[in-house]
Amino acid sequence: MAFELPQLPYAHAALEPHIDTRTMEIHHGKHHAGYTNNLNNAIAGTDLEGKNIEDILANISQHGGAVRNNGGGFYNHDLFWKVMSPNGGGAPSGELGEAINSAFGSLDAFKDAFSKAAATRFGSGWAWLIVNAAGKLEVCSTANQDNPLMDIAEVKGTPILGIDVWEHAYYLNYQNRRPDYISAFFNVVNWEEVATRFAAAK
Ligand code: MN
Repeated sequence: MAFELPQLPYAHAALEPHIDTRTMEIHHGKHHAGYTNNLNNAIAGTDLEGKNIEDILANISQHGGAVRNNGGGFYNHDLFWKVMSPNGGGAPSGELGEAINSAFGSLDAFKDAFSKAAATRFGSGWAWLIVNAAGKLEVCSTANQDNPLMDIAEVKGTPILGIDVWEHAYYLNYQNRRPDYISAFFNVVNWEEVATRFAAAK
């Protein structure tokens, strides 16, 4: 079974004005589709065919650059679409809200830490909210299409929220203003999805 490009869970225009339609069309239809196709090409005929993506990422040090870059790109964008929603924004409730307060002091303090990680990632990459091996929430960032599931990651854990800070994620609408894109992102965060991933990961 080859990996398949997941459908967007909403229309391309659904995240306007925070993320523009054209960016969503290109980002999903070209970039994510490209990572998916290139991942399939990279694993064709190898013993990675039929493995799930989490298993591949957990042992990424054993594979070449094409699997690392495109496997990460495949996984990261799948998470990214799902942790956004046109009905997003606001604040997390329940256990996730309590865990964020416990780990960071407040939701605003979490947003500051996450925004700083996203803004200071030099070049292309991602910022993450993860559940680490101790079951605690932590903010980190990775370069390129790496992620905290990879055995080569400096900070490891299960990502439950992520923001793509490659220029292809924001340049059409925000040009060089990455911080504006990051602050707009919080208006579309799907906290229910993040809470579901938190419950599964901890
Ligand atoms: Mn991207």
